[in-house]
Amino acid sequence: MENKNTLENVVALCKRRGIIFQNSEIYGGMGGFFDYGPVGVEMLNNLKRYWWKDIVDKRENVVGIDGTIITHPKVWEASGHIENFGDEVVECKKCHQRFRPEDIEEKCPSCGNTEFTEPRSYNLLFKTEVGVIEGSKTTAYLRGEACQNIYLDFKNVVDSTRQQVPFGIAQIGKAFRNEVTPGKLTFRSREFEQWDLQFFVHPNDMEKWFEYWKDERMKFYKGLYRKHENLRFYQHPKEKLVFYAKDAFDIEYLAPWGWAENEGIHWRGDYDLTQHMKFSGTDLTYTDPITNEKFVPNIVETSGGVTRTFLYLLLDAYEEEDLGEGNSRTVLKINKDIAAYKAAIFPLVGNKEEIVTKAREVFDILSDGFKVVWDGRGNIGKRYRYQDEIGTPYCITVDYETLENNTVTVRDRDSMKQERIKIEDLDEYIS
Ligand code: ATP
Repeated sequence: MENKNTLENVVALCKRRGIIFQNSEIYGGMGGFFDYGPVGVEMLNNLKRYWWKDIVDKRENVVGIDGTIITHPKVWEASGHIENFGDEVVECKKCHQRFRPEDIEEKCPSCGNTEFTEPRSYNLLFKTEVGVIEGSKTTAYLRGEACQNIYLDFKNVVDSTRQQVPFGIAQIGKAFRNEVTPGKLTFRSREFEQWDLQFFVHPNDMEKWFEYWKDERMKFYKGLYRKHENLRFYQHPKEKLVFYAKDAFDIEYLAPWGWAENEGIHWRGDYDLTQHMKFSGTDLTYTDPITNEKFVPNIVETSGGVTRTFLYLLLDAYEEEDLGEGNSRTVLKINKDIAAYKAAIFPLVGNKEEIVTKAREVFDILSDGFKVVWDGRGNIGKRYRYQDEIGTPYCITVDYETLENNTVTVRDRDSMKQERIKIEDLDEYIS
């Protein structure tokens, strides 16, 4: 069961152990902007590789791209973001804080007042300017969703690769939304990352591929998190679907504040390519090389939040364990593929040269194949506690016995069991 304080504890852990920092903290911070620390950046990179491997590397019918954050401003007209990408905002008449109507239950969450202004709509896109000469600058936007690049590059990918419909284009990248109520650490931020797959299919095959990706994406999240009971599908009610969608599902995660979106699986039909054809005047129809049939490919989209998944992962992994006799530990039982370091290398003592040298050798051998970390500071118990808190699966101690028989102590994060392993077998043990 989730502890009510899990979010607070995870926030504290993130700062204490260099996972996530408030951006510009020395200036008092900026709501909705975060930096990843030395441990967090390793985990975040591992998480992105984990997705890329699953979506791109292991499939013959998906290729990747990496697009820009600023695109032609017409993209956002075509996508509807300039007209419709908004939230409703109400303002508390007493403390003047602004909220989304769905985030208030009668009373102002900040001051308890019950009077608000009428809801006004508010566009989430961040504006910027391109060009240097005053008067001839063009208004542009930081992308409000990363996936638009995929539609823009669709024709280039078809023309430059061996892919044929059905195939997918994948991308991981930043998105920016001037959210009214950023909060819950990185759950709702103003700068965040998304992973998107747009899978292009023949219109007659939509049903089949929609089901396929729905299953694949749930399998993916089940492979990532420990607590599968915290995952579910939420089907959007038919009356709330946009006109081009026959179906839509969210994969939701049970956060300490309730079920919340993790990823959307969307039936986009031919809407995106048709819109971009209309606004750009460029033909984006596809000609089947075998049948010569011309059609606008339909799209199954899977669009999830990388940084949001990362937060859910921390919540999923966080444990406080009672070890008896007044002892306890905090441990991050995070997926071993995502852990910042696969192993920590400890020289038992820092003042015995042979031990330190031997530990360096172990570090050098292992760091060829894995990300490992060195810790020669303080007593072993404290080093274990530190590595537990950042989720390092194995702690390897080089001691006096190592000098005699080339074995080391390997301690497992989850079971806390210790084993003697030969140095030459470590590689295999860890993988
Ligand atoms: P929500 O309803 O939570 O605002 P959304 O429906 O607007 O999300 P999409 O536009 O479908 O989200 O974006 C795809 C994914 O991007 C979401 O499932 C979520 O994981 C992530 N995401 C969206 N907005 C944010 C944000 N402000 N901060 C972090 N992640 C976000």
